[in-house]
Amino acid sequence: RELPGDAEQGGRRREVLGAAWSAVAPTPVSAPRLLAWSREMAQTLGLSEADLQDPAFAQVFAGNALWPGMQPFASNYGGHQFGAWAGQLGDGRAISLGEVIDAHDQRWELQLKGAGPTPYSRTADGRAVLRSSIREFLCSEAMHHLGVPTTRALCLLATGDAVVRDMFYDGHPKAEPGAIVCRVAPSFLRFGHFELPASRGDTDLLRQLADFCLRRDYPQLLALPEGEARYAAWFAEVARRTAVLMAEWMRVGFVHGVMNTDNLSILGLTIDYGPYGWVDDYNPDWTPNTTDAGGGRYRFGWQPKIGYWNLTRLAHALSPLFAEVEPLQQGLQVYVDTYYAAERDTTARKLGLGEAGEDDMALVRRLHELLQAGEVDMTLFYRALMDIDHAAPSLAPFEAAFYDAAKRDAIGNDLLDWLRAYAARIGTDPLSQEARRERMRLANPRYVLRNYLAQQVIDRAEAGDASGIAELLDVMRRPYDDQPGNERFAERRPDWARDRAGCSMLSCSS
Ligand code: AMP
Ligand code: MG
Ligand code: MG
Repeated sequence: RELPGDAEQGGRRREVLGAAWSAVAPTPVSAPRLLAWSREMAQTLGLSEADLQDPAFAQVFAGNALWPGMQPFASNYGGHQFGAWAGQLGDGRAISLGEVIDAHDQRWELQLKGAGPTPYSRTADGRAVLRSSIREFLCSEAMHHLGVPTTRALCLLATGDAVVRDMFYDGHPKAEPGAIVCRVAPSFLRFGHFELPASRGDTDLLRQLADFCLRRDYPQLLALPEGEARYAAWFAEVARRTAVLMAEWMRVGFVHGVMNTDNLSILGLTIDYGPYGWVDDYNPDWTPNTTDAGGGRYRFGWQPKIGYWNLTRLAHALSPLFAEVEPLQQGLQVYVDTYYAAERDTTARKLGLGEAGEDDMALVRRLHELLQAGEVDMTLFYRALMDIDHAAPSLAPFEAAFYDAAKRDAIGNDLLDWLRAYAARIGTDPLSQEARRERMRLANPRYVLRNYLAQQVIDRAEAGDASGIAELLDVMRRPYDDQPGNERFAERRPDWARDRAGCSMLSCSS
């Protein structure tokens, strides 16, 4: 169905009814140039360094050419944005090139982000700027190396074309360098893919899409009888994975920033890296997203309950496939049970306990109160917790984690009390000291992609030097290791970065 202005756009922008995707070719760019790539992802896909450096590679992955067999398309989805139904959204600037089966029989979909308009672009240009593309490229791979489920990134290219954005909503449009990221995942299906046909009463399409997702992404469930039992097991598995993902975000201090239902993966992957951020000083009320700064719907500490809310929207969308609501309610309960179990497991690992009981959960809640009140760096604090003297705990190992001396002094005695209680608790725990340290090391990263680190790389890249991207990625490839010589990437956010755009808060403009 035509949208106003559709004809001038060559019929590219429209409301698409009765279909889950549209064939669309990328729009060529003027000067493709490879800026960075993931060597792990390239290897998985069977691409050598020579393949990547071949100019033909840049042509394909900037959208100027296709390899034989590629059939590009954009997919159709809707979503709840900030709690309200937004209707059709779809891949407005993502174009999938097709799928690759790797040497281990794993299927990967390749998707260009920023390769030009699609039928779903609405009023926007289908392009992406360099700064947001660097952020998506780096964070996809950093999350992978942290062990957090995520879509991946194969490569990042400069297009040679300028893109105009209302940078930070200051009212002054600005021309910025354009870029394209090739994202990679077994599937880019989102909750919103199912919400859209459901919202239109198109149960046939909804069922086709659910069956497609089961066949392609959840083949282990095909052993169940066709129909409700299978759909119920599927919804419960989506719920379980989403709960695990939320616990992982909370473990590493990641704030997604835009948890709209169109940005939640049906595979429980982190998807759509926009104005995301990493917690520096521990603050459950912090959101990196300036667009959300008023309501704070997607703040750090609310992510688990927003994950639940989003699942209720998915349950609602899938309800036409069920005669009764019970199976969907049971799936939602799986989310709750899984989240609490995962939170306990995370707490045990972060504190270096064999298992975490009720008392330990109270202990960690108290810790978080103190970290918030004292403005203490989350990553540095947890990492240093490995190093306390259990016989006589002091604040010495945490010196680098404090942002504000007055706030440190205000909580100093309480934090010492907490450390003594923690040391006493450790005394009753069965783990050996060595096993405990290793457990803590692997749960508490030393290196995370702090916003200011990414911004420094962006500043350099915008000035013509893209080498910082590979440099930072290399550090983020081993987040749990101490890396002699790379200590500067593990420091707390410097004071100059506190309120600088890009280093703390980000807009959706990308
Ligand atoms: P997001 O806020 O990134 O989740 O995007 C929400 C919707 O806007 C999705 O349908 C995107 O495809 C679309 N979108 C975002 N930026 C652009 C753009 N530059 N061109 C076309 N569509 C866009
Ligand atoms: Mg999105
Ligand atoms: Mg986005």
